[in-house]
Amino acid sequence: MDIDFVNKTQYQFLVEDIFPALHRKDKKFIVTANPEIVMKAREDDTFKKVIQEADYTVPDGIGIILAAKMLKTPLQERIAGFDLTLDLLNYADEYELSCYFLGAKEDVNEKAVKRVESDYPNIHIAGRHNGYFDFDDRKLAEEIAATSPDIVLVAAGFPKQEKWIAAYKDLFNHGLFMGVGGTFDVLAG
Ligand code: UDP
Repeated sequence: MDIDFVNKTQYQFLVEDIFPALHRKDKKFIVTANPEIVMKAREDDTFKKVIQEADYTVPDGIGIILAAKMLKTPLQERIAGFDLTLDLLNYADEYELSCYFLGAKEDVNEKAVKRVESDYPNIHIAGRHNGYFDFDDRKLAEEIAATSPDIVLVAAGFPKQEKWIAAYKDLFNHGLFMGVGGTFDVLAG
């Protein structure tokens, strides 16, 4: 499938696209695509549609950079989901934005949010919820949307996290949405 990857350095991408979008309170959906996700999208039509709904698909993996080079459509650099998350948290701290943390096991989610609270004290925690719920639960999505977060990090593994974002982002009036895989586990330490 054709994926239109972000062809910028991580710094350019943040400064030119993401920070201004956060500032304007746009609604944006970032998919961090590693080779596994690209393979999955080839065989799963629903997932392919989900990726096509993303505003930005970033190349998260050296495999994608190498494949792009072989196809003679080279990309600037790998943009790792984890690094991107840390940059978003730094920005949110600087500009006192609000973040919702959805995903991971209950204790991991709790620890990750505690870590954010201590490392990024100016971030408003819009709320948090573990990632073990019924993904068709529209009520939960409505409750999360009602907290009006600037950033929604969903750590439930792919393709669940991306499917959830695609299914429910219309309920939100603004926000930057990103599936962040195992990031909460790392933050929880
Ligand atoms: N996870 C979740 N709900 C689920 C399945 C997984 O919240 O239904 C969480 C899991 O606890 C872990 C995170 O998703 O914290 C990332 O899982 P995984 O490593 O499988 O995802 P990947 O990094 O491969 O996208």
